[in-house]
Amino acid sequence: MKKLLKYMKEYKARCILAPTFKMLEAASELFVPLVVADIIDKGIAFSDKSYIVSKCFLLIILAVLGLSFTVAAQYFSATAAVGFTANIKKALFRHIASLEYKDIDRLGTDSLITRMTGDINQIQNGVNLTLRLFARSPFIVFGAAVMAFTVDARSALVFVAVIPVLTAVVFAVMLYSIPLFKKVQLRIEKLTGAVREYLYGVRLIRSFRTDKAEKEKFDKRNDAALKISVFAGKVSALMNPLTYVIINLGIIALLGVGAKGVNASRLTSGEVVALYNYMSQILIELLKLANLVITVSKALSAASRVEQLFDVQSSANGDALLTDSTRNDNAIEIENMSFAYENAGESALRNISLTVGKGETLGIIGPTGSGKTTLVNLICGYYTATEGEIKIYGKDVSQYDRYSLRKAMHVVPQKSVLFRGTVRDNLLFGADTDDDELMKAVRIAQAEDFLNAKDGLDTKIGEEGAGLSGGQKQRLAIARALVGSPDFLILDDSSSALDLATDKALRQALEAIEPKPTTIIVSQRALSVMNADKIIVLCDGDAVGTGTHEELFASNELYREIYFSQFGEDSLSTSEIKEAKV
Ligand code: ADP
Ligand code: MG
Repeated sequence: MKKLLKYMKEYKARCILAPTFKMLEAASELFVPLVVADIIDKGIAFSDKSYIVSKCFLLIILAVLGLSFTVAAQYFSATAAVGFTANIKKALFRHIASLEYKDIDRLGTDSLITRMTGDINQIQNGVNLTLRLFARSPFIVFGAAVMAFTVDARSALVFVAVIPVLTAVVFAVMLYSIPLFKKVQLRIEKLTGAVREYLYGVRLIRSFRTDKAEKEKFDKRNDAALKISVFAGKVSALMNPLTYVIINLGIIALLGVGAKGVNASRLTSGEVVALYNYMSQILIELLKLANLVITVSKALSAASRVEQLFDVQSSANGDALLTDSTRNDNAIEIENMSFAYENAGESALRNISLTVGKGETLGIIGPTGSGKTTLVNLICGYYTATEGEIKIYGKDVSQYDRYSLRKAMHVVPQKSVLFRGTVRDNLLFGADTDDDELMKAVRIAQAEDFLNAKDGLDTKIGEEGAGLSGGQKQRLAIARALVGSPDFLILDDSSSALDLATDKALRQALEAIEPKPTTIIVSQRALSVMNADKIIVLCDGDAVGTGTHEELFASNELYREIYFSQFGEDSLSTSEIKEAKV
């Protein structure tokens, strides 16, 4: 919690005002039983109507005062809690965006989402309730006890006996139920996980007809969550009967002592009613206090989870900017670079060396799992090389400021990601430009025809690109990468769903961009990379060949294999291929 407190800075004043108003509210509540006692003893006993009316006015004034203190306190505590957590959310969002892929791999998307939403809500509840109750509840408990002593010390001894017993019972039930509620939380998280996975793969699940197994999985987790919730509910349900028994025993004792006092003329009947009222106030506050402790303990564990997340620091946090003066001839230089994923034993890439000039096109080809995407992610600085260096314009990629690097490198990931909204929203995605530039990008990405057949840039897209075919999604993802004239354009197998003619037209349009970005085309199709200035052939993490199409065709076994598997050894003459190649 300590580290998070800095996000409370601007709300310091509210953190003092809220409990202060709560105390004032409590003070006005503590006077009520005394006024009621007066009404009984002086007003009702002597049938003094005007006295009763004047005291009732006093009660109304106390109520209005109490209400305005409550409203003020509630306002300060709620705005402080919401503002505080909004600050945390902002910082956390930025922090997650700065993390390297390796950390995101390790943490997992699910837990990132839970921390961003559920955990932060718990912190908010905890802060809100703490500001309202941590000063008020003890104040009422002790205040009511003290007031009881001022009314009648002998009767107040009943309080001295009842309060500790009540406190002990309330806290015992609570301490027993807190771990239970933690378990409930865990079960519910598991259930949510199952539901999310089911919804994510619902089409696949239906087509493989595994609904029944999924239903059983859901039922099992649901039952487990139900059982533990019911048990935790039963335990915490004990709280009310137990506390009411104690409080009622206390009230019997109080009335007994009070009745004797009235008989002995030491006490009035109004004072006995006042004592009774103080007893109930104490009960209610103790229950609130128990609730506060539960909420706070939940909030503290949520806070420690959020803090852990803040502790994960990205190792790539340079501050060099990509400016015109730093752009020299070699856009990318890789020397003897190797890389292994943290959770994998074997290296995903070994001894890769490579140079790409500014404005050149690099083709990366190789079978699935050969490390193509991994190489691209390393060049973009999403992961850090285990050995060797990756230089962008002569500087190690980790030395660049993340924002300036992302602005210079636009990636079309292997799996096209589109968001709910219009095509325009998706293409702009952080850029600030006019429709002309968007349409230019759409044209290059070969998406103009199908967009015009719909509503152009206003075409609506569903969640995760619902309503579009795979190839249409890929073309829009490419168009998005073109917006903003990036220095580097990286297409990771992003034309796999395009037919050969469209793929060819796309490559021609990409070649014609002025000024031409340094381009990386990843593909499993020889046709897509044939035209590149340089091609690197990957196999199981090794670079088995580097060169132009002609060089590789003449000397590289794997490249020829891939090539022939697509064209067939005799089906096309070289001139026909040359034509297709353009
Ligand atoms: P390609 O893009 O050529 O199909 P990848 O670069 O995606 O291949 O994968 C190369 C190898 O690295 C594969 O063996 C894959 O299992 C492994 N790999 C990919 N991503 C991860 C990851 N996040 N964590 C661990 N291993 C990974
Ligand atoms: Mg890949």
